[in-house]
Order: sequence, then structure tokens, then C-alpha cells
Amino acid sequence: MGTAGARFMVAKQLAASGGLYIEEGSTRLACDPGPGAVVQYAKRKVDLARLDGILVSHRHLDHSSDVNVMIEGMTEGGFRPRGKLFCPADALDHDPVVLHYLRAFPREVVRLEPTTVYRLGDLEFTTTRRHPHGAETYGFRFGQRLGWVTDSDWYDAIVEDHQAEVMVLHTVLLDERPDLPHLSIPEAARIIAEARPRLAIITHFGMNVWRAHPWEVAEQMTQATGIQVKAARDGMSLEI
Ligand SMILES: [Zn+2]
Repeated sequence: MGTAGARFMVAKQLAASGGLYIEEGSTRLACDPGPGAVVQYAKRKVDLARLDGILVSHRHLDHSSDVNVMIEGMTEGGFRPRGKLFCPADALDHDPVVLHYLRAFPREVVRLEPTTVYRLGDLEFTTTRRHPHGAETYGFRFGQRLGWVTDSDWYDAIVEDHQAEVMVLHTVLLDERPDLPHLSIPEAARIIAEARPRLAIITHFGMNVWRAHPWEVAEQMTQATGIQVKAARDGMSLEI
């Protein structure tokens, strides 16, 4: 539902910022609904009233700004309570991004814990350790098939935590920036080289990655790692 990451890409909407959408069997999960998510879901004809859950990796605006309207969509304005909201505790408790009046609309609001397995219908996912990233942030593994490396600085267990057949990595930075808790392209390449997935997808691009052309960056990463690396594009879908 979008490939833009961080402030400038999102504010200028150089790419969409609606996050990821996952279907497994009859289960539908919206992940990290950033600015414009509701527009992207409508544009791609995904009926929010059929969602089973919404998963927020962390409370930063580019991952959570549309969470309230998504909850309303999922529950038909609260008239038909359904689905689950999964988010870190600080998205609810400290300077919350989820409005209080909407919290009774989902059937359950789940405060994510580190390295814990959750079930939602036909889907099962595991949180990683807490990411070094300012706000309380988790990455996710959906069985052995999909590892989703959300916003994070490098940490020693990052490969072990997200290793899967297909890996999706948020790459905000082109070059390492010790002052910013985000992964750079060289760090993402290191994760891919060590984890050796069948396919790696880079997404959530910051401005400098965008200017370097993500598809060219991905091609260089493929050459460097020997693993197939693709750049996500808005609306891209993938069968795993
Ligand atoms: Zn963030």
C-alpha cells in the first residue's frame, strides 16, 4: 500500500505511505497504516470492513497516522465490532496515537510484547526483540515464510530475529548515519547476506534512497550479496 519512509518522502507523497497488507487463507491484516493508507486501500479495492486485524509496529506517524480511520473502517464506524488491533503499549498509553473513543470498536486491543507468538485467524506471527528505534518498535516473522524488518537501528540479533524465506526490509538511509536509528543500504545488505533469504525486498525509502533509484540500489545489492533483491513499488503484490 506504499513504499515511502520517513518525513520528507511521506510529507511530499513522492510515494504512497499506506504500509503492508497481508492475506492468508481468509484472514486479512493491515500493517502500519501511515498517511493515506485509507486512500490506498480504497484505490486497490480492499474493503476495510473485511479486515480481521490491524498491526502497528510503532507509533511514529508514517506507520500509524491512519490507524483510527482504519479502525472505523474495519468496524463500520463502531456499529459492527470486529477484528483485533495489535500495537506497542506506548501507542496507547503515552501520547497515544489510538483515540480513546475508538478503542472499544475492535473485539480486542493487544499490547505487543517482545518475542511473543500471536494468532489471528489463519495467520500466526512472532514479534522480535524490541528494536532500537526511539519509540517502542517490533519487527515480525510470519512463520518461516516472511520476515518483516521494520524501522530499526542495527542490533546484533537482527538477522536471527527476522530470518525467513522472504524478507522485507525498511531502508530509510542510503548511507549509515550514526545519529539516526534507521537501517542504511549497507546494513540491509549485511542482513541479507547473513540471513540468505530466497528473496529480499527493500521498501520504506528515505529521500536519498529514492534519489538513488531504489531499483538500481536493489540491483547493486543483488550483485553484492548473490541474493535476489527487489525494490518494492507502490501497489506491488507478492505470493509467498
Ligand atoms: Zn520509525
